[in-house]
Amino acid sequence: MKKREFWFVVGSQFLYGQDVLDTVETRAKEMAAELSKVLPCPLVYKVTAKTNKEIADVVKEANYHDECAGIVTWCHTFSPSKMWINGLASLQKPYCHLATQYNKEIPNEEIDMDFMNLNQAAHGDREHGFIAARLRMPRKVIAGYWQDEKVHKRLSDWMRAAVGVAVSKEMKVMRFGDNMREVAVTEGDKVEVQTKLGWQVNTWAVGDLVKEMNAVTDAEIDALVAEYEANYDIATDNTAAIRYQAREELAMKKMLDREGCKAFTNTFQDLYGMEQLPGLASQHLMAQGYGYGGEGDWKVSAMTAILKAMGEGGNGASGFMEDYTYHLVEGQEYSLGAHMLEVCPSLAADKPRIETHHLGIGMNEKDPARLVFEGKEGPAIVASLIDMGGRMRLIVQDIEAVKPILPMPNLPVARVMWRAMPDLTTGVECWITAGGAHHTVLSYDVTAEMMRDWARMMDIEFVHITKDTTPEKLEEELLVKDLIWKLK
Ligand code: MN
Repeated sequence: MKKREFWFVVGSQFLYGQDVLDTVETRAKEMAAELSKVLPCPLVYKVTAKTNKEIADVVKEANYHDECAGIVTWCHTFSPSKMWINGLASLQKPYCHLATQYNKEIPNEEIDMDFMNLNQAAHGDREHGFIAARLRMPRKVIAGYWQDEKVHKRLSDWMRAAVGVAVSKEMKVMRFGDNMREVAVTEGDKVEVQTKLGWQVNTWAVGDLVKEMNAVTDAEIDALVAEYEANYDIATDNTAAIRYQAREELAMKKMLDREGCKAFTNTFQDLYGMEQLPGLASQHLMAQGYGYGGEGDWKVSAMTAILKAMGEGGNGASGFMEDYTYHLVEGQEYSLGAHMLEVCPSLAADKPRIETHHLGIGMNEKDPARLVFEGKEGPAIVASLIDMGGRMRLIVQDIEAVKPILPMPNLPVARVMWRAMPDLTTGVECWITAGGAHHTVLSYDVTAEMMRDWARMMDIEFVHITKDTTPEKLEEELLVKDLIWKLK
């Protein structure tokens, strides 16, 4: 997060004279410096722009500056916005219009025509907003006093979404094996996602991974097992299984880092030359920020890595999840989420345990070691990216995670329990109507608004299932959106 920055571009014009322009610049620098103290990334003051060329120049620079993850604009004074057209038309970075004002109050005694000349964001920001609307610019508008916590929170969230855009454009996914045979929702157009989202999704042979595993040394395994012991309770005598998972993790990490991949997939149908499906190995890689998707699901893998990056430094976590089974007792309706093995330990409420159990699915010769735990409580979202043919659709549902209401002592995998919005069965009807997958990214950190911002910046369809959604309204919304996205 800290290696990214955002640029503060302030609009004005020559009309007011140098004194006013100097004051605008001094204040804009002060605002950028103060805001940088509370935002996840620095806000760097760039220019008080008075001409078409100054705006076009700063946009060109922003487009080619790797660290610049977006621009934030504001008009302290009036900035005639025809001079913004050339710049905005070539902007390739996320864009937020901060409609704010340097002063909080109208000063009763002090206000005169000079004050009005200097402090006219109320109409300056409207002129600026018009041209962005006229140009159909995807952008976020945040209005409010720049020192208010609410504004800080919203600007922070937008920045996180924009960082998600930067991470998306650099995303490389390593696939070990193909998708699980015959599964539809994990498929997708890799050329389309590379064009639209920037993802490079490619395959590596499982045989190459096995070769890499064979080259891992005992000393490397000792060091990683010591790390497991420091972070997790060991609840198995099967040390060999834990050491085997460490071998798998070390080999996968070497290959991922060598290729610059931040996400990976594998499938239980292709473990040729491996004794165990990576469980603990994949879980511990996810804890380090790598994305993962089971059964070859590269879309959910990349999304997991992106949400992890967007939520960096948050209180909760983001991880790969799968809706497994329901509790349908009236008044106690919950989803139970889990996976065969691979649930990210950053979701855990308490210290996870390493256990080994038989896994009947796939070609496991030996019992795989895995982390077992219960998920945290609290408000969260689940997100699913699906390929609708010709476009991507991002579906986000608000959920309330709870402490699992049953101990489930014989369940050999990590589990998270939640109540979907608006309620379990209506939520399921909405999710299924929209085509949401069984695999999701569950996040306690990233909000639906952040995902909406991300989808807008990536120019993909966004569907949000909230406490107020009804299947009838959703059906209409999907019908209208289908038309709109066909026209786009
Ligand atoms: Mn699965």
